Order: sequence, then C-alpha cells, then structure tokens
Amino acid sequence: MQVRDFGAAVVTGGASGLGAATARMLAAEGVKVTLFDRDRTHGEAVAAEIGGLFIEVDVTSQDSVLAGFAAARAAHGQERILINCAGIAPVAKTTSRGEPHPMDMFEKVISVNLVGSFRCITHSATGMSAADPLNGDGARGVIVSTASVAAFDGQIGQVAYAASKAGIAGMTLPVARDLSKSGIRVCTIAPGIFETPMLLGLSQDVQDSLGQQVPFPSRLGRAAEYAQLVKAICENEMLNGETIRLDGAIRMAPR
Ligand code: NAD
Repeated sequence: MQVRDFGAAVVTGGASGLGAATARMLAAEGVKVTLFDRDRTHGEAVAAEIGGLFIEVDVTSQDSVLAGFAAARAAHGQERILINCAGIAPVAKTTSRGEPHPMDMFEKVISVNLVGSFRCITHSATGMSAADPLNGDGARGVIVSTASVAAFDGQIGQVAYAASKAGIAGMTLPVARDLSKSGIRVCTIAPGIFETPMLLGLSQDVQDSLGQQVPFPSRLGRAAEYAQLVKAICENEMLNGETIRLDGAIRMAPR
C-alpha cells in the first residue's frame, strides 16, 4: 500500500516537532490530515501550511478527544492512520530525600503521554474497525505511537517520562495482537534525541554534546527522519506489533 491509499489521518501533537513533520509528510503524500493539539497558534499555522484541519484537543480529556474525532471524521471521513505524538517531557530537578520523583508530575506525565495515547488509540480503533477494508488483505488502518529511548534507559529526573514511555512500548504488542483481528496494525517508534521544540530548554552546547554521544551519525535526529519511518511503517504491511528504536544507536554511547 502507498501511504496515500489510507486517505485520512489524525496526528496528535501535530502543532510542533515530530508531529508537525509527520503531518507535512502525510499531506505531501496526498493524505487528508487533521491535527489534534492543545496549542492553537502553532496548530493552525501548520494546518494552513499543509491544507489540513486543526482541532484544539487535549488528549487528557475524554470529551475533548471524542469531539476531536467526530469533527475530524465529519471533515475528512474515517481516519485510517493515527499518529500519537502529543507528549510532555518535564525533568524533575530536585526531590525530597527518599522521594524518587514528585507525585504530581508523575500523574500528569502518565496522564498525557500514556493514558492520552491509549485514549486516542481506543477511539480511533473503534472507528477503523467499523470501516470497510482498504485492500484484499483486510487492512483497515495503522496506528503509530511515540515512545522514547528513555523507556529502556531513563536518566535521573526522568522517572515519570521513562515510565510513561515504557508503558507505550509495553502496550504496543498486546494492542497489536487485539487489533490485528480487525486489520489494524500497531507500531511504536522510540526516538533518541531529536531537534524539536521539546529541546528548547537545553542550551546549544548541551544539544551539541548530546548529538556527539550518538555513535553515528554523531548528531541529533531530524524530525523529517521520524516522518520517514512513519511512512515506511504505513506502507509495509509486515511491520506490526514492533517498537522500533530510531536513535543512531545512542544506547551504545558510554555513560
Ligand atoms: P514538541 O514539544 O515539539 O511537540 C509535542 C506537542 O504535543 C506540542 O505541540 C504540545 O502542544 C502537544 N501536547 C502536549 N500535551 C498535550 C495534550 N495534553 N493534548 C494535546 N496536545 C498536547 O515535542 P516533540 O519532540 O515533537 O515530541 C513528540 C513526541 O515525541 C512526544 O511524545 C515526545 O515525548 C516524543 N519524543 C521526543 C524526543 C525528542 O528528542 N524530541 C525523543 C523521544 C521521544
């Protein structure tokens, strides 16, 4: 299948970074794209650039997500691609003695990154399952979520983020097992460190030094490289249930 054969897509976190790059790729391939994000200013700008639709959605809210899918489908028909990019990555700076991570931050990060991704998967899969197959194999759609190498190698201050991303990686296979019965494939990308607004809090020196830790190509990832892998997953029917690291083998860097 070509990515355009899927017809319509929803990209969460589409206002920025990896989500925006994926939205650009999908639109360039001829897919009708709806962006879900809580950032209206940047979301509307990306939607205008690609001829897509922006809907203000907070993935932590069931009502907001349900309204978002209803509006997306009214405009573009049933989405056959869901890309989960909405996420936050706060780092805990100090914790009290004996407290590995602030509890309120933990609950917030799990709610956005893990529960938000699962909520969008649930609502998208329900719609995709009820739709007609797209080809003779019975394909009905594809879902790609975004974990992180922190899922496997979390650093100090990243307890909540690592747990949320390990949750996304961990649910990928069982969700794929279930949705395969409906012709829906489910994969996750675990990026290393990518040049996106998420890194804005880090100085250029820190970003450069992070890039140098990548064994090859010794630089940070580019959002378009994430979008390239999304395209490959959409087009390759044998990719299912996988969490794919996209990190230039940063796990081999000495710590
Ligand atoms: P980004 O900050 O540029 O984009 C994230 C987007 O998610 C923003 O537009 C933000 O408004 C949106 N968002 C946050 N909370 C939301 C909510 N509750 N509802 C709806 N939208 C919400 O970051 P990015 O680098 O593009 O990250 C995209 C995904 O990739 C995230 O899940 C992130 O954890 C993951 N990731 C990024 C990197 C990296 O190095 N940039 C590495 C590994 C994983």
